[in-house]
Amino acid sequence: MTMTNVKTYQQFIGGQWVDAASGETQAVENPAVYEEIARVPASGQEDVNRAVDAAAEAFESWGLTTPQTRSLALLKVADLLDENADEIGRLESLQTGKPVQAAIDEMAVASDLFRFFAGACRVPEGLAVTEYVDGKTSMVRRDPVGVVASIAPWNYPLYMAAWKLGPALASGNTCVLKPASRTPLSALRFAEVVGEALPAGTLNVITGSGSVMGDMLVAHPKVRMVSITGDTATGKHIAEIASRTVKRLHLELGGKAPVIVYDDADVDLVADTLRFAGYWNSGQDCTAACRVIAGPGIYDKLVGALADRVRTIKWGNPAEADDLDIGSLIAKSHADKVEGMVSRAIEARAELVVGGRRPTDNGAYFEPTVLANPAQDSEIVQDEVFGPVVTVQRFSDEDQAIAWANDVKYGLSSSVFTGSIGKAMRTARRLQFGTVWINDHFTLTSETPHGGVKESGWGKDGSKYALEDYTVIKHVTVNTGI
Ligand code: NAD
Repeated sequence: MTMTNVKTYQQFIGGQWVDAASGETQAVENPAVYEEIARVPASGQEDVNRAVDAAAEAFESWGLTTPQTRSLALLKVADLLDENADEIGRLESLQTGKPVQAAIDEMAVASDLFRFFAGACRVPEGLAVTEYVDGKTSMVRRDPVGVVASIAPWNYPLYMAAWKLGPALASGNTCVLKPASRTPLSALRFAEVVGEALPAGTLNVITGSGSVMGDMLVAHPKVRMVSITGDTATGKHIAEIASRTVKRLHLELGGKAPVIVYDDADVDLVADTLRFAGYWNSGQDCTAACRVIAGPGIYDKLVGALADRVRTIKWGNPAEADDLDIGSLIAKSHADKVEGMVSRAIEARAELVVGGRRPTDNGAYFEPTVLANPAQDSEIVQDEVFGPVVTVQRFSDEDQAIAWANDVKYGLSSSVFTGSIGKAMRTARRLQFGTVWINDHFTLTSETPHGGVKESGWGKDGSKYALEDYTVIKHVTVNTGI
């Protein structure tokens, strides 16, 4: 459905607000009601060239600023984001279908990231300067990479963009941010709000289709690094294109987090954690606690406790209630995908415990769902659903639990619940994931590293390790004997 008088946005290139060179626009929809809410530029090659040129020009000076200068700018960015959190959060809710307060709260997490990197960039780390050969003094520099293409997903649009922009800008790089085509509005408004804190061209935001304009951005010879958070298939495609010009890559891709629950775990703690970490953001979270692997002695109790909790999850249209746990999914096509995966899982002998339906045709909703006893090699266990769906499997012993947990192509995050510290640490060591939570799931802070192994990608968001990803090491040796 199209609303009359929807606002048409411009994009932000070199400190200016401009239309796409072609004048073309594309629609942005509110998935909670299937209504067009805005139009944004549909960029092409000319727009990509202008944005990358602006970033390359800005890099000449931004790349030579002191950490203190960049730090003060990022602190200002954080303050401006905080001042406008309510407005940008509401925009975020409108374009994603997520509850309004949840979207507003994401702004505070994003501003904290900018503050963290504002501090962290002032304490670069490296080898001590010394003489490995008499008369020659050797040192290591950490320099910015150059122009970074920052490609963000739609699940936490501005928060994920902040993951990329914070360390990139703090390290002296300049950025061309491409928000997901379904969720460009918060990034555009963010650029408008923080524009005054950064020199023109340091941050550029261009909008358009990922497969059309995104490819052009990744291929551009002046882009020296591509940072993408998105689907594993998208990451592989981008890696192929980027390899032609040997760009540095930062890939935060899909996940399929296992939750190992040993028989001695606290069943209420597990069920409460799953109610939150399995369904938050309608399960559209790369770390979602979606794949429970429970011991034979706790399985039945856990399935019952989880089903009870899941029946209390309140979903609906964010415009109509302010006490929702979850809103809609991102789009009708995505709800179609979730529905298809759930019905194929049931055909393949998984037991439907709760949920499993599309409750309405007016909006991209899917009921919070629990599926019990799916086969380890089934699609629902192996592939990312990215919806409000949690599976529970029953393992026979510790080795099988860990083998099943590791037996997916992903390696982003995982958790283990047990009363035994020895068992927890033994399991944490053997889990092939970038994060292991113990008696917990979901806790991420600006200080802690987030990133995957295997087909979940490589590189870290958050923490001082992100600064390593967005800088290059340069060795300099001085002949002091002359
Ligand atoms: P997506 O892969 O569809 O899109 C991600 C971004 O890539 C978007 O901006 C999109 O426009 C762009 N894109 C798509 N094709 C492109 C191309 N050919 N060239 C350049 N850019 C292109 O992912 P999504 O559906 O927006 O997000 C959901 C996915 O993101 C899930 O798989 C989820 O697990 C993953 N994710 C991972 C993390 C993490 O930290 N690892 C965090 C959040 C989301």
